[in-house]
Amino acid sequence: MLLKNVTQDIVFEKLGEILRCHPEICPCARCQLDIAAIALNHLQPRYVVTDLGEVMTRTGSLDAQISVDTMLELTKAIAIVSRFPRHAENSDHK
Ligand SMILES: [Zn+2]
Repeated sequence: MLLKNVTQDIVFEKLGEILRCHPEICPCARCQLDIAAIALNHLQPRYVVTDLGEVMTRTGSLDAQISVDTMLELTKAIAIVSRFPRHAENSDHK
């Protein structure tokens, strides 16, 4: 059995979509994780207990409001990280 934060899944899913559409946003691991961390700190966590083999049936229970909130927090987080990127501390950043 696994304890899962559904909000975290949604954040990474939406972040992936945003990054595909906006090449101006730095896609390095440091910036992506910083964006996700900032957004997740402002969003309500939604924990579910799931079987390891269980297919997540999120789409049915995922209401539109969570999606809207996630996009809003991601947009704010991207603005913060774009202004103060911390990837310079990362030696593996190209
Ligand atoms: Zn970066």
